Amino acid sequence: MGANLASFLYLVSGILFILALRGLSHPTTSRQGNVYGMVGMAIAIGTTLLYATPSFGGFVLIVVGLAIGGGIGAVIAKRIAMTAMPQLVAAFHSLVGLAAVMVAAAALYAPESFGIGELGAIHAQALVEMSLGVAIGAITFTGSIIAFLKLDGRMSGKPIMLPMRHVVNAGLAIALVVMIVLLVTTQSTTIFWLIVAASLVLGVLIIIPIGGADMPVVVSMLNSYSGWAAAGIGFTLGNLALIITGALVGSSGAILSYIMCKGMNRSFISVILGGFGGETAAAADDDMDRTVKQGSADDAAYLMANAQKVIIVPGYGMAVAQAQHALRELADKLKEAGVEVKYAIHPVAGRMPGHMNVLLAEAQVPYDEVFELEDINSEFAQADVAYVIGANDVTNPAARDDKSSPIYGMPILDVDKARTCLFVKRSLGSGYAGIDNTLFYKDGTMMLLGDAKKMTEDIVKAMDH
Ligand code: NDP
Repeated sequence: MGANLASFLYLVSGILFILALRGLSHPTTSRQGNVYGMVGMAIAIGTTLLYATPSFGGFVLIVVGLAIGGGIGAVIAKRIAMTAMPQLVAAFHSLVGLAAVMVAAAALYAPESFGIGELGAIHAQALVEMSLGVAIGAITFTGSIIAFLKLDGRMSGKPIMLPMRHVVNAGLAIALVVMIVLLVTTQSTTIFWLIVAASLVLGVLIIIPIGGADMPVVVSMLNSYSGWAAAGIGFTLGNLALIITGALVGSSGAILSYIMCKGMNRSFISVILGGFGGETAAAADDDMDRTVKQGSADDAAYLMANAQKVIIVPGYGMAVAQAQHALRELADKLKEAGVEVKYAIHPVAGRMPGHMNVLLAEAQVPYDEVFELEDINSEFAQADVAYVIGANDVTNPAARDDKSSPIYGMPILDVDKARTCLFVKRSLGSGYAGIDNTLFYKDGTMMLLGDAKKMTEDIVKAMDH
């Protein structure tokens, strides 16, 4: 295959990736978006095999690698629970970072195979690209492993605040810049591995002070890093598809991080500087009356059947209980009885962006009943019932009213403005951010303690009576 045809095909795959991102931005077009992405990736891989593979041996190696890696990926993707998706994404990002380090090392030791000069006489530009790719790649690798451990509960979500961490991080960053200059001038392999080591340490240090509540932003930030690492390596390899894809992943990850920061009312800089979230239950007003009104499925069925408008607020607990199908059944019942039903989705509800939308789509909830926070928040005041199912942090009024709360300023769904707030969860425990929710003790709240799926099914049954 000629270079022109290869460039053209890489461009086609790049366009397909852009169409994929566009398709994935809405549930109705997301399947189509996935298909564009798959076709784009097939073209990119096929082109690389036919154009850039120098020997038959290399060809076989790549195909075997694809079969093993693709096989493992397919099995993991099939088996993974929806609730474990964020940590899976973090684990996969770590592999992108590791791949960037490996490719850079290969290019350093066998530059002639990459067309970037000879051992000891590598072009300066290639060395700069390589060192940036390897530094970002190594930071992504260890940073993503820490994110994986925190999201998977194998490491506490509490921020780990080392003394003088900003000084240490800044020192490491400066040392990295100096080492990159030294690598470009000396081409020393020792310096290369020192860059790798410093970046690996920096990856750990950047992520450990970041607390649980900021993890969504971290995952998308690491997503962005992995994209830039791939783009850097794309320049080293002279691979157009890798440059385009890396830049797309890098910029879309950065935009998503920005959108999430806005959704949580946090500045990007304060997220990166860390130290937020993961606190143990606190921040409750000690003077307040802590009696809880507890209700049954029958009470809930009565309240909802007699309502004119019910707004459903799903959260992480709905995902854990896999209650989306039961919820859809409940909504159908209510609609049959003439009740207006809407769903309100907080931008960081669940454990990944779009988590709730995916689950509701799986249960075939009509898209026109699902609303984002800013489009529905004003409607809670006119709702008779807010049915909060497995959500907690995203409804916590402390974010709105308590200046001393760690989540103060984060936008919340105003469920307390509904006439009655039905809260389905198993206990009075806190949510992901570890902060007590004063809503449980308010007059208009009725706690429905139990598993989200079981409780919703019981309410449906009670409505039949
Ligand atoms: P929360 O984590 O605040 O609360 C979920 C609640 O669900 C818990 O309090 C738990 O209470 C309850 N629950 C768990 N299992 C069940 C079950 N089987 N049946 C009924 N209830 C159950 O969830 P939210 O969705 O409100 O908020 C998301 C939080 O996660 C935010 O703090 C956000 O910052 C963070 N986060 C979000 C990410 C994202 O991208 N969306 C990624 C990572 C973190 P109990 O134990 O009493 O049942």
